[in-house]
Amino acid sequence: MLIIQKYGGATLETPEKIKTAAARIADYKNKGNQVVVIVSAMGQTTNQLLSLSQQVSKNPLLRELDMLLSVGERISMSLMSIALNDLNHHAISLTGSQAGILTDDEHVSAMIIDVKAHRVIEALKENKIVIIAGFQGVSPLTKEITTLGRGGSDTTAVAMAAFLKANHCEILKDVSSIYSADPKIVKSAHPIHQLNYAVLLEMTYWGAKVLHYRSVELASINKINLYIGPAQSSETTKNTEIKTFKDFSKIGTIIHEDVMFESTRAIAVNSHQNVYALSIKSKNQSAAINMVSENFRKNQISTPQILFGFTQKDETTLLITAPQEVMSLIKNYCNSNQDCQLQNENLCSVSLTCTGSSLNDVLTLSQKKLSEQNISVQYFTQSAMSLNFFVAQDLKEKTIQALHQMIENP
Ligand code: ASP
Ligand code: MG
Repeated sequence: MLIIQKYGGATLETPEKIKTAAARIADYKNKGNQVVVIVSAMGQTTNQLLSLSQQVSKNPLLRELDMLLSVGERISMSLMSIALNDLNHHAISLTGSQAGILTDDEHVSAMIIDVKAHRVIEALKENKIVIIAGFQGVSPLTKEITTLGRGGSDTTAVAMAAFLKANHCEILKDVSSIYSADPKIVKSAHPIHQLNYAVLLEMTYWGAKVLHYRSVELASINKINLYIGPAQSSETTKNTEIKTFKDFSKIGTIIHEDVMFESTRAIAVNSHQNVYALSIKSKNQSAAINMVSENFRKNQISTPQILFGFTQKDETTLLITAPQEVMSLIKNYCNSNQDCQLQNENLCSVSLTCTGSSLNDVLTLSQKKLSEQNISVQYFTQSAMSLNFFVAQDLKEKTIQALHQMIENP
């Protein structure tokens, strides 16, 4: 079998953890599998690199930021390869560019446009374990190194799985599986062992940090079997025999095509911690959207995720979210730009992902749960698979807990 394993930053935080992960990889290889490993940067490395750049300049060039941020994953890949060679395995580390991850030229938020992983195939033929730096690629147009946006190494893993037609792709973390809500906030949150792409896509779009949103989209298009599970071994992992892909659901979460839910079913609650309401003076909505894409870009600000919007007269309000560092840039931009005002910077979104959201009484019932807790909702949207509430940040946990009551324990 050909397996892709992606190790998240928390699972590679220390040299000890890298050695543990290397042992796990070696174990797979010893069982006769071919293994391609994608690594994230160790622990908080990416945040530390960002903070370093901030100490040099408040407005770093995005090209240079990519040169800096791509280093994090390179540290992990080389250490992992060193650890594996030490276990007497032939391993080779490759940067995103060496591994043939070709992207467009949007620095800091590049999209993968093609994969030409000839070196990976060559190394596999030589019976090597291939370690690839996640989150980065190269633009064939500009020949520049690019990064894929925060959390982007999941997308590298799925793209590689699709290109190599891997049997499955494992996303390994320091948590045991996907949960119905953050167990730190909801005590009764429970593990979810099987999901389909559509539900996971909705969950990640509305803030589930477990996977990069774009990686789920890519997995869904290419029908990649995904397993999200623990990197560390435990009693459960030791006592579970994995014969087929579906056996992984006894440990973590598997995502595949044929998971069916009966409608209506509430599945999970997720949130975006930080949402801004921006009001933009402009002659029409399209000019407003232009402002947050093209104008931001001209000012070295990557485009935020627009969650909701409406226009009244010559003013458009957009609810947006982005990684913390981008939000700070947006705030600075608004402070120095008359046409763009931060109306509210203390919002968050809380979403209930469910199937059949428009059927039955999901909305009525969830509104009831919220009003029982005196939670005042400032905006809400509903789609086929979710109810999304925008509330003040200090109500986040209470809102998550109230909505989680809609989810029955399986
Ligand atoms: N290291 C990058 C980040 O922290 C990419 C990743 O971990 O997927 O966002
Ligand atoms: Mg990371």
